[in-house]
Amino acid sequence: MNQMTLDINRIREDFPILKETMNGRPLVYLDSGATTLKPQVVTDAVNYYNTKKTSNVHRGVYQLSNDATELYEGAREKVKNLLNAKKVEEIVFTKGATQALNLVAQSYGLYNLKPGDEVIVSELEHHSSFLPWQHVARVTGAVLKFIPLDETGHITVENFKKVLSDKTRVVAINYVSNVMGYISPIKEITALAHEVGAIVSVDAAQAVPHMKIDVQDLDCDFLSFSGHKMCGPTGVGALYGKYELLNAMEPIEFGGEMIDIVGEVTSTWKDAPYRFEAGTPVIAGAIGLGAAIDYLQAIGFDEIAQHEYELRRYALEKLEELGGITIFNKDAKTGIISFNIDGVHPHDAATIYDAEGVCVRAGHHCAQPLMGWLCQPATLRASFYLYNTKEEVDAFIEATRKGKEFFDGVFF
Ligand code: PMP
Repeated sequence: MNQMTLDINRIREDFPILKETMNGRPLVYLDSGATTLKPQVVTDAVNYYNTKKTSNVHRGVYQLSNDATELYEGAREKVKNLLNAKKVEEIVFTKGATQALNLVAQSYGLYNLKPGDEVIVSELEHHSSFLPWQHVARVTGAVLKFIPLDETGHITVENFKKVLSDKTRVVAINYVSNVMGYISPIKEITALAHEVGAIVSVDAAQAVPHMKIDVQDLDCDFLSFSGHKMCGPTGVGALYGKYELLNAMEPIEFGGEMIDIVGEVTSTWKDAPYRFEAGTPVIAGAIGLGAAIDYLQAIGFDEIAQHEYELRRYALEKLEELGGITIFNKDAKTGIISFNIDGVHPHDAATIYDAEGVCVRAGHHCAQPLMGWLCQPATLRASFYLYNTKEEVDAFIEATRKGKEFFDGVFF
């Protein structure tokens, strides 16, 4: 296999945690779909703000606050460039993808939907993408429609057309599934949705960290992601929204810094994005996210995606050699493998991985409707990122072999 595209040894030096152990074993971190490790440059950027530039933003009448504001707004510019948004005002900082997705549902959905309107979702959604619209549908009387997944669990344009109608007002779907690692045909779906006057909200929590994104090319109306899944700190994420839509939407949180004029009976709001950033924003987090974006861009998203995919291919080969493993997403093109060891409950298997120093996820992955579709209570998930190596895949395979051996005959 080819690991020449990235200088992994050099990259691993950037992540101090990789020198740690777990249960006395070298740490093998294969849970980047849940959150990623942080390079030193991100920690340094957050520390720089905390130790040298601490002050509040947008309210300063002194140099320190102007410096902090510049760092914070500089991070917004980096997100804008990362997504190729038209303008910086289209980027709202949030505490993560979940808050961004809820913002769209509550601010756009609650105000624009009426009984009988249709919202298209899928069983492939993370709860953070799906539940906000389930709530909005319950409150407004709108109807949720599910794109039927194809036999391998993909969202296809053909199946999307089966649920699209002139009543469709919103399409809320993932760009990359956190369980299956499939890439959804967002551009084609968006074009079709726009033909009937619907807006499209994309959950890109598993896409932005791993591939180049161009919101102008996709033409989606909203796109949400989290910083912590792309080497940034926890507690920060962003919502991209087309400016004319964002600026026509009501805030959902009220407080300091989002107002224009406050009266006793009514008040007016700042323009987007500030009307959505009530209170002191995630200053340190946004600055850390900016550093993470610089870091990933310097390495290259195409190179990262290729590396993850190659690791996945290698791991799949080895799992197939082992036998007795069910793979749920054989044809994914990203760095995620969802699988189970036949006859072994994923939570039992997880104890073996843990003892071997291997971090993999076991559970329903906040995607219970998909577990229903797969007819599984839970699955195991290994997810790769730029710092993972072929040797770590070998350790993962060895742990899988031990898990198979240990539980063989225990239950069956
Ligand atoms: N959508 C997807 C596809 C995800 O994988 C996740 C995180 N697991 C989220 C949304 C929610 O992200 P966060 O918890 O960072 O808000």
